[in-house]
Amino acid sequence: MTVVRTRFAPSPTGYLHIGSARTALYCWLYARRMKGTFILRIEDTDSERSTTESIQAIIDAMHWLNLDYDEGPFYQTERFDRYNKVAEKLLAEGKAYRCYCSKERLEKLRAEQIEHKQKPRYDGLCRALTEPKEGPFCLRFRNPGEGTVEFDDLVRGSLSFQNDELDDLIIARSDGWPTYNFSVVVDDWDMKITHVIRGDDHINNTPRQINILRALGATPPVYAHLSTILGSDGKRLSKRHGAVSVMQYRDEGFLPEALLNYLARLGWSHGDQEIFSKDELVQFFDFDHVNKSSAAFNPEKLLWLNQHYLKASDPAHIAKELAPFMKQLNLDLSQGPSLIDVVKALNERSKTLVEMAEKSNCFYQEIQYNETAVQQHLTQDALPVLTQIQTELNATIHWQKETMHEVIVKVGETLGLKMGKIAQPVRVAVTGDVTSPPIDVTLFLMGKERTLERLAHAITLCH
Ligand code: GLU
Repeated sequence: MTVVRTRFAPSPTGYLHIGSARTALYCWLYARRMKGTFILRIEDTDSERSTTESIQAIIDAMHWLNLDYDEGPFYQTERFDRYNKVAEKLLAEGKAYRCYCSKERLEKLRAEQIEHKQKPRYDGLCRALTEPKEGPFCLRFRNPGEGTVEFDDLVRGSLSFQNDELDDLIIARSDGWPTYNFSVVVDDWDMKITHVIRGDDHINNTPRQINILRALGATPPVYAHLSTILGSDGKRLSKRHGAVSVMQYRDEGFLPEALLNYLARLGWSHGDQEIFSKDELVQFFDFDHVNKSSAAFNPEKLLWLNQHYLKASDPAHIAKELAPFMKQLNLDLSQGPSLIDVVKALNERSKTLVEMAEKSNCFYQEIQYNETAVQQHLTQDALPVLTQIQTELNATIHWQKETMHEVIVKVGETLGLKMGKIAQPVRVAVTGDVTSPPIDVTLFLMGKERTLERLAHAITLCH
């Protein structure tokens, strides 16, 4: 049995787009599912648009998403000798030819074809040349003039293209740089790629690439072209629809497992199941259930999944993920409760890590009292509540959630007040506002010293 080898081959011309991340995920999943090899290849031959920052951004995003690769990263710019060698071989065998047509001639040809409502394509003028000429030239692949190219796409099914629709594409430019279609072919061949999984924007390149592979005597890989991801308005997902960079999702407080789960389901399904661990994805992923039609990106669903993972994951894991967001808010973690306790208190009430960090602010640093909350809850009526709570808590030795609960109940009974009448003024007193986790948890997280300090201050605010 052949060992499956997949590759993710991004062009480093910006951040890692969410659509590319889905491609990377499907390549990774298929390789893992088939116990094969996953390769990262950086297609950096576009010298004007490729940047080292983008390469780093891709590698960082892959790392954050935990999509580990077994080979690479390989860089196309380091393989020019190899592309030249293969191009020369094709030339020597008459499968490629030198084309001396000037830019002006090609532009004119194109304009004429467009005017006559023909598909713009090279007319093959230099095809018949038998001897080299003077002057700059590029190398063109001698595409078969007739017949069809057929392949079974794992997503699209059987596809067929007429050779006479494909022109003789350039494989090496006059400055010696390889073109995209050629370097991809040589790499897929050399790297023994068995499955090319990529966006459907490449579908028209596939017959050309298959023809070159055949000319080289190589067996073409299996192809799977993934449908485009659309925004809510049915247009291709772009910045207009919100965040499209993987790292932006990290910065907005999403968990990588939530994003991966979301991307896996965006165009693939396994019955009605929505929540998948990474192991389950590896176990279930298949191309039979990858959707042919475009998938619409739904930010609400992603938020829902993120909240699910915040709630369902081990609090110690979430605490580790939360730490950098706390640092960003300049919260000194030594000045408050353990992060694990914070996570346990807030994981039901936060959709993102950013939200969780913001909500934990009051446990670590000075608070600003919300004026309306003070007006409403720190009244003369609240005074006996706060003073009694203060006395009871002052005497408390075991600062635990359970003890806090007992104190609240006791003061409620003594004053003949319902829980809410006790909890709300105490909440405003210690957090400065009207929303926080349950009051016993809030007091527990606040700690004795801070609670007593704030109660004392709140008592002076009662009016
Ligand atoms: N470098 C191409 C891109 O980023 C992908 C090429 C391929 O997967 O064949 O669109």
